[in-house]
Amino acid sequence: MTTMSFEERTTELDAIAAAVRACVKCQLHKGRTKAVPGAGPYNADIMFIGEGPGYHEDQQGLPFVGASGKLLEEMLGKIGLKRDQVFITNVVKCRPPENRDPLPVEIETCTGNYLFRQIELIDPKVIVTLGRFSMGLFFPGAKISQIHGKAKWEKGRAYLPMFHPAAVLRSLESMKPQYEVDFRKLPELVEQAKKDAKPAPSAPPTPETPKKDDDPPSGSSTPPKQLSLF
Ligand code: SF4
Repeated sequence: MTTMSFEERTTELDAIAAAVRACVKCQLHKGRTKAVPGAGPYNADIMFIGEGPGYHEDQQGLPFVGASGKLLEEMLGKIGLKRDQVFITNVVKCRPPENRDPLPVEIETCTGNYLFRQIELIDPKVIVTLGRFSMGLFFPGAKISQIHGKAKWEKGRAYLPMFHPAAVLRSLESMKPQYEVDFRKLPELVEQAKKDAKPAPSAPPTPETPKKDDDPPSGSSTPPKQLSLF
């Protein structure tokens, strides 16, 4: 967790976005039209991390703007969220030629310079990995078919692996219902992370009141408060 103010974080995140747009640190810069630093509020509770920009993202400089973006928006709508309430970015910020897989050196260079710092500064409650390269950063060696929708917790943050929307679009009928089930886990994870982050209230001093005969028996309880989703 960072101790920087929101203004300081905003300044650095803007600087990261500018550095990404001018970056020549790996060979992917050669074929890009526009680099895609990411988009969304800098204090988002949820950060989605995809693989890399595709054709439309490269043209517009924005993440998930094609059919995959539409599916993402539809799924967010199911849990009452809009895309401008979450931060969306990618493992590599420039489009690999012909949409090939990013190379290990490209992933290492880009995440080491940009993604991991973006995570530190935004400090999301939940990180959603979309696709195998993003999943590989946080669940090395795992198989998405076995772990999708199963969150792991580290230092108060939930990591939720999900299929990439492009994969769901290829088998829409069979995969979409499960995709929705996985998305519906997000509000509870955010709520849990917020609850865990709250410092335990210090107990008020208890006056030494002598117990009266007509006191209610110990063990009577008030019902627990209903948690709000967000
Ligand atoms: S992919 Fe990342 S490291 Fe490579 S040129 Fe683009 S911004 Fe720089």
